[in-house]
Amino acid sequence: MLPYSLYLHIPFCRHRCAYCDFNTYAGLDELIPEYTRALCREMAYSAATSGERLGAHSVFFGGGTPSLLPVDSLEAILGSLDQSFVLAGDLELTLEANPGTLSLDYLGSLRRLGVNRLSLGMQSASPGERRL
Ligand code: SF4
Repeated sequence: MLPYSLYLHIPFCRHRCAYCDFNTYAGLDELIPEYTRALCREMAYSAATSGERLGAHSVFFGGGTPSLLPVDSLEAILGSLDQSFVLAGDLELTLEANPGTLSLDYLGSLRRLGVNRLSLGMQSASPGERRL
């Protein structure tokens, strides 16, 4: 098995939940294209400075709310990952998602891009408890 698991942090959310300690921001979606480019540059830099292309058996998009990323951003990040790392043929590719951000079209695009695992965050199925 290739040795590494990669975690990519996506620090954008629709709302900032009061109980959350993650490094994430609401209302800054206009920075997503710039953040995507920075993430791609960082991966290329890591590959260039490690002296070899490191091998990964899993990639996890966490946040924040990675499912706020438009498909073209995900495509660019996955392209950079592929150039910068050796990815396992049976790569586990996870995207953390907020159920409210998902549509059938978006899920189809995730599948096309190779995402094979979703991590859905939900504190409660009761609207009253969620408001609380
Ligand atoms: S959606 Fe999740 S990551 Fe974003 S602020 Fe709420 S708990 Fe934190």
